[in-house]
Amino acid sequence: RFINREFKWICSVDRIRFFSTIRHHRRLEGKVALITGGASGLGRASANEFIQHGAQVIIADIDGQLGPDVAKDLGPQAHFVSCDVADEAQVAEAVDTAVTRHGKLDIMYNNAGITGPVFPPGISDLDLNEFDRVMRINVRGTIVGIKHAARVMIPMGSGSILCTASMSGLLGGLGPHPYSISKFTIPGIVKSVAGELCHHGIRINCISPFAIPTPLVLAQFAVFFPGASQEQLVETVRSLGEFKGAHCEEIDVARAALFLASDEAKYISGHNLVVDGGFTSFKNLKF
Ligand code: NAD
Repeated sequence: RFINREFKWICSVDRIRFFSTIRHHRRLEGKVALITGGASGLGRASANEFIQHGAQVIIADIDGQLGPDVAKDLGPQAHFVSCDVADEAQVAEAVDTAVTRHGKLDIMYNNAGITGPVFPPGISDLDLNEFDRVMRINVRGTIVGIKHAARVMIPMGSGSILCTASMSGLLGGLGPHPYSISKFTIPGIVKSVAGELCHHGIRINCISPFAIPTPLVLAQFAVFFPGASQEQLVETVRSLGEFKGAHCEEIDVARAALFLASDEAKYISGHNLVVDGGFTSFKNLKF
């Protein structure tokens, strides 16, 4: 009977979980994460990484067509909610969905963003309606996400909030003005809020990635290189940050997010983690 019992265990799901935990230390086991803009690019890669490390993930995205398919692909630990981060009521509802489904929210990743218009490039021609639109999604959307995450995390006395900034928010001239200005504000928001949230056991950090050929960046490059094929655009974006054969990939950002989201970063808050291979540190930057 003993052998029979052991044999059953060896064949069971518990055994698979047990050995995968040993082989691959799961850094977000039991955690619940909400990722805005999780249906594509960096958000999707992070959702996948978080799930591999044991998290339950709510993907909150404005794309109601792609989102459910992505959640299905990611498996039973992923759930999609339709959410426009420009609308506070929708963000509040997405946060409440996470809490209703899983009883808590450990990680809030404010990642959704848009680039806005690429042209006209000059400040003297700035379209303020377009500027407001970019700020509403990239900046206000981030602040609203922080606000509602804090609403549920403060009573818990714990949590990790992440925001996506950009290398375009570290140096001028790397993106359209509305986008660049919106991304310059993200590390400031993080600093401003970290000082309050640390008293509640909540950490908040942001990540500044280099250019990665996601739909957001490819759409921008398509304007600069009309007629170029998708492959050529991907190659152009990749080649910008190629150092010693390595270039920036979604997984590089997802791993940075995993670290900051996990308890391994328990004493890190108010930080801007730059994922650019050293690009923004060059003395003679040419772009
Ligand atoms: P992406 O286009 O692949 O993904 C963006 C996602 O955000 C999409 O799924 C889209 O539907 C969603 N989204 C857009 N507006 C939304 C809204 N109002 N509410 C909810 N969801 C919305 O782009 P990405 O490159 O993965 O971008 C993710 C974040 O990373 C953005 O904040 C972007 O500014 C930032 N970023 C990207 C790069 C890069 O090179 N790809 C570099 C630096 C920073």
